[in-house]
Amino acid sequence: MDARVPESAPVPESVPVLIAGGGPVGLATAVELAHHGVRSLVVEPRETVSWLRPRAKTTSARSMELLRRWGLAETVRARAPLAVSWSDQAVFVNSLLGREITRIGGCFGLDLTGSDLAAEPGQQAPQPLVEEVLREAAGDALLTGWQVTGLREDADGVTVGIVSADGEEREVRAQYVVGCDGPRSVTRAAIGARYEGRQDARPNFNIVFRAPGLAERMPHGPAVHYWVLNPAQPGIVGRLDLKETWWCIAMGVRADDADPVGLIHNLVGAGVEVEILATDPWSARMLLADRYASERVFLAGDAAHQNPPFGGHGFNTGVGDAVNIGWKLAAVLHGWAPAGLLASYEAERRPIAADTIEAAAANMATLAPELADPALMGDEAEFERVRPAVAEAVLRTKDSEFHSLDLVLGYTYEGSPIVSTGAGERLPHRWLGPGESLYDRLGPGFSLVGDQRSPGAAALVAQARELGVPFQVVDLPGEPLALVRPDQHVAWRGEDPGDALRVAVGAA
Ligand SMILES: Cc1cc2nc3c(=O)[nH]c(=O)nc-3n(C[C@H](O)[C@H](O)[C@H](O)COP(=O)(O)OP(=O)(O)OC[C@H]3O[C@@H](n4cnc5c(N)ncnc54)[C@H](O)[C@@H]3O)c2cc1C
Repeated sequence: MDARVPESAPVPESVPVLIAGGGPVGLATAVELAHHGVRSLVVEPRETVSWLRPRAKTTSARSMELLRRWGLAETVRARAPLAVSWSDQAVFVNSLLGREITRIGGCFGLDLTGSDLAAEPGQQAPQPLVEEVLREAAGDALLTGWQVTGLREDADGVTVGIVSADGEEREVRAQYVVGCDGPRSVTRAAIGARYEGRQDARPNFNIVFRAPGLAERMPHGPAVHYWVLNPAQPGIVGRLDLKETWWCIAMGVRADDADPVGLIHNLVGAGVEVEILATDPWSARMLLADRYASERVFLAGDAAHQNPPFGGHGFNTGVGDAVNIGWKLAAVLHGWAPAGLLASYEAERRPIAADTIEAAAANMATLAPELADPALMGDEAEFERVRPAVAEAVLRTKDSEFHSLDLVLGYTYEGSPIVSTGAGERLPHRWLGPGESLYDRLGPGFSLVGDQRSPGAAALVAQARELGVPFQVVDLPGEPLALVRPDQHVAWRGEDPGDALRVAVGAA
């Protein structure tokens, strides 16, 4: 008997949804579709995740809530090398082994364990770790070793051309396509959309390295970021695990003249033993696709928008895209919403990406090179002379980068064509019992939360039955009614729902 496990799923002739690209956003889209019982095929060239290119480290509190919704939050936390309780600090120093200037606590929502603000705190985890968890959850939907070459859209579906690593060509027919194929998206080009925006002039150089014994020598204690304000080599350093592996961003460094070991020695402030594991040059981009969709093809994640990484919003915004397009495609494919619902994807998600780009660009206005001061590298007296002013500048300019819950948890779909007046925000989380969030009681479809004896409740239950919308009732006696969408955003709240559910599924 041949006990070998096939390396990847076989190529089907047709599938309800084809997802181009199996980065975090493509995988999240597949997981969201599966959450609603819809089959998809994720076409991804990389056989394995890129462990030595751990770009995102911050999984936001909102993404963790969405991972909880898929039953994956605990897995991510259990595998993350830096436990959420380990640190929520960003420390500003003149070198890793040198003096501390100031620090910011409660970064990235890492301090929200048990909070009334969120069902999950944020989590520091290397991007490939999150991708690995999502790959496992996507299961058979993931087809690795293939990439999308182009697509033809007609009234009934989309024919997608794919090619394997050894040149075999196939076509797959899909009812819908989600383009999650990143910055150089073939899908974006195929629908004639284009990025608008700009690239920052400053080159950055990421290094993943091993430094035995460095952590033990550091005087600053645990922190998720160490910002080095040395004018000779400003940058950010952090730990990838609690063993010997580190990451850093050396700012203002061009790949051609980079000396990785020398850069690390400057950031550390001493000639410590270093083994370079990988390097990754990049520049910040502020780019937004001029449109997100054709009739049957939708862009999500970096294929649709790119923002500077400061604040940790890139893939987190893409996970929000994945959930938004995922539940809507499921609603249309299951027949409980008309295809017109899909137009609300761009209307809801593009403004969020625009706000995120703006916030991340504002974070980028003052980075380690701007905060660095030659006097910080002087003797103790000179350091102490400038320290208060630099510390004040850090706290004044960097607070919003590390404390951005308004953006992460507070974005709203108010004004969307499928949201009733006065609604659109994420349903506020609350604890119903030890470890039980209100979110845990919501169904995968729509939910009606509040006092079910309220006059509007029966009308909404009747609308759900008539439309065939999956509907969960969460009785909270004495509380006002809120109609909650599959993505945990409020579609309507109040007393007289009118046609609220029809509006929410685009059928009004
Ligand atoms: C230094 C740095 C730090 C960052 N830190 C954070 C952070 O802390 N938090 C955060 O949220 N974000 C962060 N980001 C941003 C984050 O890395 C990206 O936003 C994220 O990778 C986008 O995910 P994606 O799935 O949309 O695209 P990608 O990750 O680019 O994935 C696209 C996928 O499509 C595949 N592909 C490409 N072409 C094709 C094709 N023709 N057919 C099929 N597949 C194709 C690729 O192989 C890839 O797997 C950071 C970025 C940088 C540069």
